[in-house]
Amino acid sequence: MRIDIATLFPEMVDNILAESIVGRARKKGAIEINCHQIRDYTLDKHRRVDDIPYGGGMGMVMQAEPIYRCYQAVCEQIGAKPHTIYMTPKGSVFTQSRAAELSRMDNILIICGHYEGVDQRVLDRIVDEEISIGDYVLTGGELPAAVVTDAVARMCSGVLSSPECYEEESHFSGLLEYPQYTRPEIWEGEAVPPVLLTGHHRNIADWRHEKSLEITKEKRPDMYEKYIAQTGEK
Ligand code: SAM
Repeated sequence: MRIDIATLFPEMVDNILAESIVGRARKKGAIEINCHQIRDYTLDKHRRVDDIPYGGGMGMVMQAEPIYRCYQAVCEQIGAKPHTIYMTPKGSVFTQSRAAELSRMDNILIICGHYEGVDQRVLDRIVDEEISIGDYVLTGGELPAAVVTDAVARMCSGVLSSPECYEEESHFSGLLEYPQYTRPEIWEGEAVPPVLLTGHHRNIADWRHEKSLEITKEKRPDMYEKYIAQTGEK
């Protein structure tokens, strides 16, 4: 899979995505991520990419042309139109299931806004989907783009060691994950739940599922109700 990110701060996004699991996956070629400097696509001799909003008001608005030319360059490079996402607090709130769907696409282009946002005309022309990472406002789309890219990348084949790594996690099945423990067996007088030491796979799986139900019911009653309604479990 290839993910392109159009931003005024490519190093900011690239540095986050050069570390840890995603960074290693990029190095071994399991996923391709390219960060593009939108400023490189302006025709303005001062490399300007923003201007004051028509109608007045605070702040600056990112101009349509540099973003459109950056989009065209990406289309040319991949020889197709990528699924184009604009990061915005006005978008649909990002979920694990949307991350899973996006991880099955071949090409995604993520546009990061800044200042007061982006000229609506270019969004209307090129954007397929608007995504928000939550009901709050950040200074720019760079952290949201890194969040979406990380969540999508870890579900692409060859990034984690096996699909089980994410299939058992919070949100994948509609439940939150069970508690995890590691060595030592006793820490500060607190023992690991005995069932986890038995090596009995069925009993361990049952215990974990029960804990998942219990934790989801307590922490996210909305998710619990939905899960019970869908599965008929109690
Ligand atoms: N004026 C915009 C509004 O009220 O909807 C907010 C602009 S915000 C200061 C600048 C940029 O940050 C946005 O264009 C968007 O790309 C990004 N951004 C901010 N909060 C975000 C969020 N919760 N999810 C996704 N992107 C966000």
